[in-house]
Amino acid sequence: MNKLYTSTRNTDVAISAKDAIRQGFSTDGGLFVFPNFDNSSISIEEIKNKNYQEIAKLVLRQLLPDFSDQEISDCVSAAYNNSFDTDEVTPLTRVDNFNVLELFHGPTSAFKDVGLQLLPQLMNHSIANKRVMILTATSGDTGKAALEGFKDADKIAITVFYPHNGVSQVQQLQMATTGGNNTEIAAIEGNFDDTQSNVKKILNDASLKEQLGSNISLSSANSINIGRLIPQIVYYFYSYKKLVENKQIHNGDKVNFSVPTGNFGDVLAGYLAKQLGLPVNKFIVASNENNVLTDFFNSGIYDRNRPFFKTVAPSMDIQISSNFERLLYYKSNGNTEYVKQLMDELESTGKYQVSDELLKSIQEDFYCGYSTDDEIKQSINEVYEKFDYLMDPHTAVGYKVMRDYEQIDNSCPTILLSTASPYKFVKVVADAILDNDKNDDLQLMNDINQKTGVPIPQNLKNVWNLPILHDDVIERNDMRDYVKSKVEEDLYDKN
Ligand SMILES: *Cc1c(COP(=O)(O)O)cnc(C)c1O
Repeated sequence: MNKLYTSTRNTDVAISAKDAIRQGFSTDGGLFVFPNFDNSSISIEEIKNKNYQEIAKLVLRQLLPDFSDQEISDCVSAAYNNSFDTDEVTPLTRVDNFNVLELFHGPTSAFKDVGLQLLPQLMNHSIANKRVMILTATSGDTGKAALEGFKDADKIAITVFYPHNGVSQVQQLQMATTGGNNTEIAAIEGNFDDTQSNVKKILNDASLKEQLGSNISLSSANSINIGRLIPQIVYYFYSYKKLVENKQIHNGDKVNFSVPTGNFGDVLAGYLAKQLGLPVNKFIVASNENNVLTDFFNSGIYDRNRPFFKTVAPSMDIQISSNFERLLYYKSNGNTEYVKQLMDELESTGKYQVSDELLKSIQEDFYCGYSTDDEIKQSINEVYEKFDYLMDPHTAVGYKVMRDYEQIDNSCPTILLSTASPYKFVKVVADAILDNDKNDDLQLMNDINQKTGVPIPQNLKNVWNLPILHDDVIERNDMRDYVKSKVEEDLYDKN
């Protein structure tokens, strides 16, 4: 009964949610999935008068059946009671004819906080007698959010890898100033996909596992971990409920969600919300110039053999959207052999093509488009000048593609997910709304604040005054040894 999770690449796998959270992903290389939503649903009626935390408990109870009610309740309170700067956790703001769902009110001003404040709590209840090293590849935002979430956790340490010169100055400072006695950070010579694929390799490295001993587990805080993904389902329900409360829609009306997308975790969480009964018309998948997914939606061919662009929305500079594998699993009706075949092709040739039937089924729920860097800046400017709302560059990607979709179908209201505070990406925002060519992020932060009156989040104000505690830069081939030495440092001497 409790062994509900299986692998996207092998239906024989059957493990509990706790084991899935501790392991991160399956030894066959697949991702853990909840195979069947037939007996799981959440009605809007039932969440009508509930706050964010209460809705979170309902969602978790559906998908984490081996957690007791008490455990779930403790985890949710620890994650959300004090760490966000608003009681609403993810407030909804009306702008023009759409609503912005602000996911960036957590301790690091990125939407990753929603998942990464809860994951350490869930992990804590999942590790039994083991000690765990969390490995994370970050394109910028996950790293700091994971470090904050796991900092000083008992029997758990965390190592974060990010592409050298691939993150913003503020993001880099946020990570480098992290305290805690169990936090490790290294910049990698390579891009995010190199970093992520090496982390995956290390997590699957049997000889390393043996060297570390049976008492040590390696796990992941990326959105391949279901413990990170499931918390993200909550705000889809929460925002829908708010629209009903605000009388912008009736219970049962369909809405669209526009989602700035990289690893496909956020939008997949939305799709899971739909499986749980949320009335959704389309998920609008919005990419930057790394538009692998847009091409896929048009052709059925996923092809990562293309130039990699560093864009002004760096947290989405990704060519392998890991969580897309989960969608392939659901949309092929759990055909794990087929998914495995596609993933093997991706690994060996960098591309695969899905059947027309599968593509059609995906197109029923999803629309996909992209925004260029210039369009990102235009969007930030337009929304600020016309509607007095300040967006970060990732949110601007979602905005642009939402407008594209309106041209095709404007029958349903759209909720635009806002994934970062504009103060995390001040150069681009300043370029879009100020006439100046200053290069200092702190100065730009203050200039934007002066011009717009939008408050600077406290954690981003503080970051400039904290000491730098981490400055490692390593070759990608040295990541494995780095992990091994950090496990020895952080976990071997602890009881
Ligand atoms: C991670 C991130 C995204 C992309 O989310 P995925 O779940 O990887 O698709 C978008 N915007 C920002 C600011 C992010 O940090």
